Amino acid sequence: MTTAQTLLKVEGLKKHYPIHGGIWGRRVGEVRAVDDVSFSVRTGETLGIVGESGCGKSTTGRAILRLEEPTAGDIRFEGTSLLSLGVEAMRRMRRELQMVFQDPFASLNPRKTAGAIIEEPLRVHGIGDANERKQQVKELLQVVGLDSYHAERYPHQFSGGQRQRIGIARALAVRPKLIVADEPVSALDVSIQSQVLNLLEDLQESFDLTYLFIAHDLSVVRHISDRVGVMYLGRMVELADRDELYNNPIHPYTQALLSAVPVPDPDAKRERIILKGDVPSPRNPPAGCAFHTRCPHVMDICRKVRPEFTDQGGGHFAACHLTG
Ligand code: ADP
Ligand code: MG
Repeated sequence: MTTAQTLLKVEGLKKHYPIHGGIWGRRVGEVRAVDDVSFSVRTGETLGIVGESGCGKSTTGRAILRLEEPTAGDIRFEGTSLLSLGVEAMRRMRRELQMVFQDPFASLNPRKTAGAIIEEPLRVHGIGDANERKQQVKELLQVVGLDSYHAERYPHQFSGGQRQRIGIARALAVRPKLIVADEPVSALDVSIQSQVLNLLEDLQESFDLTYLFIAHDLSVVRHISDRVGVMYLGRMVELADRDELYNNPIHPYTQALLSAVPVPDPDAKRERIILKGDVPSPRNPPAGCAFHTRCPHVMDICRKVRPEFTDQGGGHFAACHLTG
């Protein structure tokens, strides 16, 4: 995979939400949901993004598709700067970039049949006539492991796993190159999770898909990803090949996260690292390294200087003063 090309390049991405307060509704601060994040996704790979709730994973995914307008940064898809596109050009571009959401119940219109939901992106992008689209919906249902008669049913008539299959069929309908999957299995029973993960893997093969796979569950991300990025408080703190990251984590935050996961190999002993304190608020992130307030190895410089996110060798990126 070393020769693979870059499909998506994210550089210096920021999304700050203004906070308004007081009787005048003045701007009194901002939430730094995503605060200068850079990474790229290679054609055909699955890049996992992991981190605790609130660290900015969803905002990152949504900003890439411009479902949230980024505050700053550059997003290049096959070399095209997405932020430079006008509304119409961006609408057309969405054929290439699709999203699968965490909660398929909330993201599927309850008043529309599964068939109408899956057909919608085809209609929006003017693909085929009514008959061709009906045929495509049938095929898509089969591709995601449902039956053609399911087209007539409404979201509430499906199980959670089936609803997520509909969400996946909808994303797949326009034959995108990149799918941003935001916690696609987090709302599902554990027994159903692996079925949906296997489906995503099969589809990746058959449709040459590239995934940006967001989850808070480390073992889910480990299962499906080629490379993994770890976020903390709006920042990417580490990114590496999957096995490299899980076997040889550099950043103290990643080390702590991984130490809490049961290890499959009983010989590979790992001491549980308990972090002190809570995750600070992104309204008022700590100066320097955002992790310094909880880091067991904190040094003076960490309180003042933000560590650069740099390649520590062989494509293993980390933002930590201990190593670079
Ligand atoms: P994650 O997906 O990792 O759980 P999010 O990207 O959803 O995190 O949120 C990151 C931070 O941004 C959180 O503190 C969240 O409360 C805040 N946030 C998300 N969306 C908004 C919004 N529309 N307005 C204000 N703050 C937001
Ligand atoms: Mg989220």
